Amino acid sequence: MKGKEEFIIKCMSVKTLLSLCLQVWICSLSAQDLIGKWYETENPRASLEINIERNNNEYNGTFTWKWKDRLSTLNSPIDKVEVKGDSLLFQLTHANSKVYFNLEKDNQTDTYKGFYYYMSRQLGAVTLSRKAIERDMSISPAPEKEYTRQDTLRGMVTPEREWWNLTYYDLYFALDIEKKYLKGSNTISYEVLEPKNVMQIDLQPPMKITKIQQSGESLNFTQDGNAYFIMLNEEQSTGSSKEIKLFYEGVPRENPMPPWGGGFTYDKDVNGKPFIYNASQGHGSSLWWPCKDHMYDEPDKGMKISVNVPSDLMAVANGKLLATKNKGNGTTTYEWTVTNAINNYGVSLNVADYVHFSDPYEGKKGKLECNYYVLPENLEKAKVHFKQAHLMLEAFEHWFGPYPFYEDSYKLVDGIGMEHQSSVGYSGKYINGMEGKDHSDSGWGLKFDYLIIHESSHEWFANSITFRDMADMWVHEGFGTYAEALYVEYHFGKKAGEEYMKGISHNISNRIPIIGDYDVNDKDYPGDVYVKGASVLHTLRQVINDDEKWRSILTGLNTEFYHQTVNTADIENYIERESGMNLKPFWNQYLRTTKIPTLEYYFKGNKFAYRWINTVPGFDMPLKVTINNEEQWIYPTTNWINEYTKDAKSELTINSNFYVAGFRNMN
Ligand SMILES: [Zn+2]
Repeated sequence: MKGKEEFIIKCMSVKTLLSLCLQVWICSLSAQDLIGKWYETENPRASLEINIERNNNEYNGTFTWKWKDRLSTLNSPIDKVEVKGDSLLFQLTHANSKVYFNLEKDNQTDTYKGFYYYMSRQLGAVTLSRKAIERDMSISPAPEKEYTRQDTLRGMVTPEREWWNLTYYDLYFALDIEKKYLKGSNTISYEVLEPKNVMQIDLQPPMKITKIQQSGESLNFTQDGNAYFIMLNEEQSTGSSKEIKLFYEGVPRENPMPPWGGGFTYDKDVNGKPFIYNASQGHGSSLWWPCKDHMYDEPDKGMKISVNVPSDLMAVANGKLLATKNKGNGTTTYEWTVTNAINNYGVSLNVADYVHFSDPYEGKKGKLECNYYVLPENLEKAKVHFKQAHLMLEAFEHWFGPYPFYEDSYKLVDGIGMEHQSSVGYSGKYINGMEGKDHSDSGWGLKFDYLIIHESSHEWFANSITFRDMADMWVHEGFGTYAEALYVEYHFGKKAGEEYMKGISHNISNRIPIIGDYDVNDKDYPGDVYVKGASVLHTLRQVINDDEKWRSILTGLNTEFYHQTVNTADIENYIERESGMNLKPFWNQYLRTTKIPTLEYYFKGNKFAYRWINTVPGFDMPLKVTINNEEQWIYPTTNWINEYTKDAKSELTINSNFYVAGFRNMN
């Protein structure tokens, strides 16, 4: 019951049932029996206590629900209690979500049995009993993450990385498909920032570096797990440009759970021909080629990727196809060129009997090449389905500014669903939704193919604006998920986008904060980096309360940090500066704690009192509420604020675009 969905009783039969209940209100004996405390006996991971009272012929009450291992307790007055014979129906609102219970009395056991509903969906069985049940609802702390020296070598800008700046990668390899064996070289160009002579390069076993050369001379190196430390003989003088060539080979890790996860997947198309693709997110590119495997540094001038494969197959990598060279021995080398800085895990390899078609887009920076590489069996479907790419470009250029890699083109490639830079991997089924499912439950999630829209949004937030440290994963996934709602808004209207956001915010778990641990390549990030990240941005938009300003902030981020690496603080500071607001408590609350800000309030005569609880010190987010049908802003702080009104007020609903909770204090 996290989230802030408004429950709308769509189902007429429920409505009819409710009004019938009202009409034939009978204070039967069983209804009299209802007063007092009830306890839920069904769910071993929850403790539900309901207290029903009766005042002036009306039932009301309170409701407390705690979950094992959840930080939030649902505490709410009951809006309605309705009794008809042996049927009991009650409804409550928590954080603008309507939850209702539909129960029948079981006279034999003296319990009420039935189900509870949320977002018009039946969620679970409920049995209410008079007997109090003692359950351990404690929160077992999230397991401490443990890190090794390898995590530090991987996740830190070590002294052996810091002194040189990447400028270019020239990567070449041949792929022996039978043996799953990869052999090649990477020539790294760099600029010396400080005159040092030990360089760190990463490559994960079982892949290994066999030889390293500078200016034709072989170099000595040592290996510490995934990290190689290379002793350079030449003088490395500040400002000089250098090259180093690494020879490597091996069988790269296979992906244990395609289409997700990291590593190589060896699949086949319908004709039985090889279909090979990879992903390195989290694991890093050093999974399959030697590189400076830290996100803070990207090759400023891009890279070249040359792949040698059997001539009846095609290799597709990032950027544009520069040359196809038939080697005359049954193999062909495909040379791909990327002219912009490219993020590490964005480098990809796809090998198959691809068919190609293109469909250029007239965008904000002129003509953008859009190339599609699909398996032969998908060609006809793709020609129709990939038209969504233009709709995506139209929407995201509106919100975020020009597509960030015009020079490198845009591609969709049958492979693994991943935001590979200028070569977005597609593993969908050529249907809308998440393989046909709507993770927002709002209906809007079926209006687009999640993989095309979500993964392509990362061209702006992940590939152009790239996190410097894995701890800031939310910058990629929070904006990426929020982009889905912006896509919906652009094509179907603001209300549709809001409904999509309400729907997905349901999936927030608040188990651990969305910012992870720095300097250790913390790849154990929570799912909340997606939906909570998006909800934080959607809430922030409400606070800023100026749609044009908000859009200028989104496009501004893409200008300010164009082709750069950032950390959370960069994003925070930029938005704070552009909005002119003090957002520090806001960011601290939502990014660094798991607490849902909760508006505690009550009405007493003409007094309306409210404050924020469950917040960091100084949390003072303004909030849009409706009080007795009148929408207004209130400015709660962590101290009680009293307002006096002409008439006694009694009803408050919180605008459901805010990711907050509400608690009406009945005392
Ligand atoms: Zn993503």
